[in-house]
Amino acid sequence: MNTRRDFLQKMGASALMLQLSSVITFANTPNQIEQPYDGKVLRVAIMGLGGYATRVAEAMKACTKAKLVGVISGTPSKVKDWQMKYKIAEKNCYNYDTFDQVKNNPDIDAIYVITPNALHHSHVIRVAKAGKHVICEKPMALNTKEGQEMIDACKKAKVRLLVGYRMHFEPQTLEVIRMRNAGDFGKIMFFQGQCGFKIGDPKQWRLNKALAGGGSMMDIGIYAINGARYMVGEEPVWVTAQETKTNPAIFKEGVDETIQFQLGFPSGAVASCLSSYNINHLDRFYVSGDKGFAEMQPSTGYGPIKGRTHKGELTQPITTHQTTQMDKMATIIFEDDKPVVPVDGEEGLKDLRIIEAIYQAVKTGEKVKLTA
Ligand code: NDP
Repeated sequence: MNTRRDFLQKMGASALMLQLSSVITFANTPNQIEQPYDGKVLRVAIMGLGGYATRVAEAMKACTKAKLVGVISGTPSKVKDWQMKYKIAEKNCYNYDTFDQVKNNPDIDAIYVITPNALHHSHVIRVAKAGKHVICEKPMALNTKEGQEMIDACKKAKVRLLVGYRMHFEPQTLEVIRMRNAGDFGKIMFFQGQCGFKIGDPKQWRLNKALAGGGSMMDIGIYAINGARYMVGEEPVWVTAQETKTNPAIFKEGVDETIQFQLGFPSGAVASCLSSYNINHLDRFYVSGDKGFAEMQPSTGYGPIKGRTHKGELTQPITTHQTTQMDKMATIIFEDDKPVVPVDGEEGLKDLRIIEAIYQAVKTGEKVKLTA
């Protein structure tokens, strides 16, 4: 296990120096309009070259405002592969022992942390101390204490901390939010969020409490929490929750298999949600008001997202989520652009606060009040 962690970083400064074109034109996905961009490009290094990182890297090929220029990995063979595939300069390759040196690398603006949940805290704080902007995958940390420390570290270092909430840039999702804000659904009364899948390999880190921080709730249930907040447009004030565990051999102590939870909002709206590692095809949002409704299924998968409202099918363009996300994050970082739904550390912290309350409610069987 250690060999993957302590590999060589030094590959010397040489050969594959990446030149960022001042005018970049990309139109790799069907519905992305080709347009020249001559602004500042966010030069990103990805940390943790696993499944999701690979998806992000592929999606970034179509970005106009962000560019993959570096990697941080514990697996030398992956570094070689990624160097070849994405033309990454040797001087932009690091491992987990050496990445603090990124502070001396003027060719990297931001690091995207895509490692197991438990590592986000230390990885983000180290990146902040190296003076680079950080994008961190969800859940941003294992608990609110860690989350707050990450926010504080980034503030102190004067770098941005963004959380990889790709749905916050998804066109159909944004249309539902626009319609809600315009009053099309009337007074919101109810949200339902169902998020889950049947997890495979019992040895994976997602089923290891020390690395995952929990079970389905940390990984997939967080989408229902986050979705409840952006679909209802309020912050919940109470939580109740119940856990169902059918397979304690796989879902050990502290690793939740299925949790049903309910949220109450200040307006009186309620949410009924399901998070599961043992039920397939759970990817549905439903929001209902006294004048109308929206339904999305799939609602948070990689797409295409499919939504309809009482007015008919949603027809917003299908996008590659991570392409849009990274381009938008570049403008958030460089131009202080304000997204409709925030993706900053405070936003990540709000979800963690609710996750903690859900776990507490499961444990105590009581209604847990949430304070801002
Ligand atoms: P993977 O297991 O596929 O990849 C994680 C990578 O982290 C590994 O390949 C490895 O890369 C690195 N790593 C460093 N230390 C460890 C360790 N101790 N054990 C295992 N891996 C380690 O996970 P995912 O890519 O699926 O998930 C990573 C993060 O991304 C999670 O926080 C997850 O919640 C989030 N995610 C977000 C999604 C979204 O849609 N926003 C979707 C999927 C995941 P290396 O060998 O290069 O060091």
